[in-house]
Amino acid sequence: MAAASLLAHGKKRWDNVFPKQPVVLEANRLGTLILALKRKGYEVIGPTVRDGAIVYDRIGSPENLPVGWTDVQEPGHYRLMQREDKSFFGFAVGPQSWKKYLHPAEVRLCSAERREKTFRILNSESQSKHPFAFLGVRACELAAIAVQDRVLLQDKFSDPTYAHCSADKFIVAVQCTRAAATCFCASMETGPQVTGGFDLVLTELLGDKGHRFLVESGSDHGAEVLAELDVSPASEDDLQEMEAGVREATNQTRRIDTNGIKNLLYQSFDHPRWDNVAQRCLACANCTMVCPTCFCTTVEDVSDVAGNHAERWRRWDSCFTLGFTYIHGGSIRNSGKARYRQWMTHKLASWIDQFGTSGCVGCGRCITWCPVGIDITEEACAIREGEQNGEP
Ligand code: SF4
Ligand code: SF4
Repeated sequence: MAAASLLAHGKKRWDNVFPKQPVVLEANRLGTLILALKRKGYEVIGPTVRDGAIVYDRIGSPENLPVGWTDVQEPGHYRLMQREDKSFFGFAVGPQSWKKYLHPAEVRLCSAERREKTFRILNSESQSKHPFAFLGVRACELAAIAVQDRVLLQDKFSDPTYAHCSADKFIVAVQCTRAAATCFCASMETGPQVTGGFDLVLTELLGDKGHRFLVESGSDHGAEVLAELDVSPASEDDLQEMEAGVREATNQTRRIDTNGIKNLLYQSFDHPRWDNVAQRCLACANCTMVCPTCFCTTVEDVSDVAGNHAERWRRWDSCFTLGFTYIHGGSIRNSGKARYRQWMTHKLASWIDQFGTSGCVGCGRCITWCPVGIDITEEACAIREGEQNGEP
C-alpha cells in the first residue's frame, strides 16, 4: 500500500502494518539490540561514516553508527553535515546498498593450478558462515531487495552466491522521518512507510518524550529478538509522533508519473530527448553501480605470469560500458544515446515485462552519484512532456 494512502486511513492506520502494538526501546538501549543479534550468531551490518559518506560495514556497537550526522543530496552532490541532535538514523541513503553483501561486486567462481602436464580445479573460496543482520534498512531498500530476490532467486535459474548470502538474513528496518532532496520513493509506491519484509522495524523518535525507538516485530525471529529487549508499551503520543515523522518523509519534491510509463517508453525509441541526455552522459556507469536493483555481471579469467595459476571472477558490469554488448567483433550499443535509452527503458518499462515490477524503487542514488547530475525523474518527465506536445 502506498505511504500516502496508508497515512490517510485514520485511527486504525497502523493496524495493517503493525498488527501487534509497537513498543518503546530507549535510545540508550540500542546496543542491547545489536548484542542480542550477535548472541544469535548474526554478523551485524549497518551504516557508518567513512570517507565523507555513510556506507555499510560491520557494526559492533551504536557508537559505530552515524551518530549526529545527516546527508545533503542534490543531483551530482553529496555532503555530510552535523545535526543538532544525536540521531542514529538521521540521514537518507548513501552510495552503497545492501547488494554489496547480497550480490557482491566481485566473486571468485573457481581457480585452477597447473600440476605438471595437467590442471587441477580448486574449490571456490568458502563464503561467510554467519548470516547477516542488516540494521537500518529503509523502505525503498526493502523494495530493492525484493526486486533482486525476484531476479536472482525466483527466476528460471537462481544464483547460488545470492542464495548463500541472503540465506537466514535478519532485517531491522528503519522508517524514514526525513527524505533527501533526491528521494522519490513515494511516487514509486515503495516508501517511506515500511510495510513488510522485515523482522523488526524501528522508528526513531526525538520529540518531547526523549530519544527513543518505536519497535515492532514482523516475523517469529523478530519477536524472539524483541523478547530479549527491555521495552515498554507505546502510547498514543508515540504513535502520533511516528505518524508525523513518516508523513514528513513523504514530502518529496521529485516524482515519476508511472501512469502508462511502460508503453510511453516503448513508444519513445526515437524521442529527441535521448540525443539531449547523450550530450551530457559520460557513460561512467556510476548510476548502475550505486543502483540497488542493477544486477548485471561479467566473467573474467586471470592467470599469473607463469601460467601456473588461473582464476575465474564474476564482477559487476554495466549496460553503460561498450564491452557489455560486445558480440562477434563489435558492440551493439555503440552510442551513449543507445546506452542511456537502454538503461532507463529497462528500469522503468521492460523490467515490468520481465519481472512484474518496476526496476526502480525511487532511492535517488543514480541522481546524487551521477557526476553531471543527470536526473531520471527529469528525463522521464521530459519524455512524457515531449509526447504530450506531439513530439515523437
Ligand atoms: S534507477 Fe536510480 S532511483 Fe531508481 S532504484 Fe536505481 S538508483 Fe535508485
Ligand atoms: S547517467 Fe550519469 S552516472 Fe549514469 S553513466 Fe551517464 S554520466 Fe554516468
